Amino acid sequence: MNATALEAACDAPIGADQDADANAGPVYLDANATTPMAPAVLAAMLPYFSAEFGNPSSPYAAGGRARAAVTEARARVAAAIGGEDSEIVFTSGGTEGANAAIRAALKANPKRRVLVTTAVEHAAVRTLADRLETRGVIVRRVPVESTGALDIAAFEDALGPDVAVVSAMWANNETGTLFPVAELAERAKAVGALFHTDAVQAAGKLTIDVAATAIDLLSFSGHKLHGPKGIGALYVRRGLKFSPLIVGGRQERGRRAGTENVPAIVGLGVAAELAAAADWSGVQALRDRLEAELMARITAAMVLGDRGARLPNTSCIAFAGADAEAVLHRLDRAGIAAASGAACSSGSIEPSHVLRAMAVPDTFARGAVRFSLSRDTTAADIDRVLAVVPAIVADLRPPCRRPSPSPEKLHA
Ligand code: PLP
Repeated sequence: MNATALEAACDAPIGADQDADANAGPVYLDANATTPMAPAVLAAMLPYFSAEFGNPSSPYAAGGRARAAVTEARARVAAAIGGEDSEIVFTSGGTEGANAAIRAALKANPKRRVLVTTAVEHAAVRTLADRLETRGVIVRRVPVESTGALDIAAFEDALGPDVAVVSAMWANNETGTLFPVAELAERAKAVGALFHTDAVQAAGKLTIDVAATAIDLLSFSGHKLHGPKGIGALYVRRGLKFSPLIVGGRQERGRRAGTENVPAIVGLGVAAELAAAADWSGVQALRDRLEAELMARITAAMVLGDRGARLPNTSCIAFAGADAEAVLHRLDRAGIAAASGAACSSGSIEPSHVLRAMAVPDTFARGAVRFSLSRDTTAADIDRVLAVVPAIVADLRPPCRRPSPSPEKLHA
């Protein structure tokens, strides 16, 4: 793509009425933000809001039934990621899991002062790293390539005998790019560091078998895999000295205090089991079709992320010269939900830290839209998107402001 292509984009005709299909029902392509609960998940949870309201710590029958439900859910979650039941700690979600994991790892390795992480982590890890840095922890942030792939040489350089913990996400929430976490964990282990991975986006979309890796800590969240919000799990490798983030009662074997959220835990168990059995090949085919057709119909657009190592459901497409927030607004009017950059930073017009770390030129980064499909996405959903996006982008491109991308940096 080059300036000529962008000129052609400026000349593209304005298409059909983009609001025409708004009454055809919503199209939800923001599954990396959250997912609807699967009906089986809701059904499994419901009794624990009413008849089965017992406290798992209570000694009588109702407590025993709640305890049994938590035990069963723990087994389901453990099986879904290849861990043992005793290695699962229920949390309030991905953010708590990452905070608990990193802080516990630093405490378990008190003579070492360094946290190695990456430049593209979710705020759950990034903000904690920033905070820890102000409290004397040395933070090394490993850069990424223009594809979003981790700079492995820089990763190697960041490792040393002073590293207490490495925290690297498994899958990026904005671009879907995967990091080779099993390999990174091996390298961390070789220098005596603990390894945590934020697997919030990977869980439920990729096969996870922690026992086959050197990963020590892995956090994930229920609401990204058709489970409830406000629940997640942290895998803690057996034998790891774990200091809890939340102290109080002896719940979760002293690793996370507070009366268990039984309905949500039950829901997470069912959601994790369903997700582990899911086949993503159909979703990936839909994602690939969406991308191929948008790229064919829209000039000066590019797919961001490592196309060789990417989640099957995520497509981050940058439309040069179009403002992503405006595209989202027009999509919303057409009944289509998508995101720009990270959902958490939507509303900000600055390119996200992820796209900046990838050195995506501003004119593209500001026009980056993330479509994230779910197991519920249909071919008709994709057709709806294809029917409106080219015209929306053409409409929103300034008649002929000509940004000058740096094609040599790109990988479209
Ligand atoms: N990590 C990643 C990669 C995420 O995408 C998210 C949520 O978007 C989180 C962590 C936070 O998870 P939770 O919402 O469960 O706290």
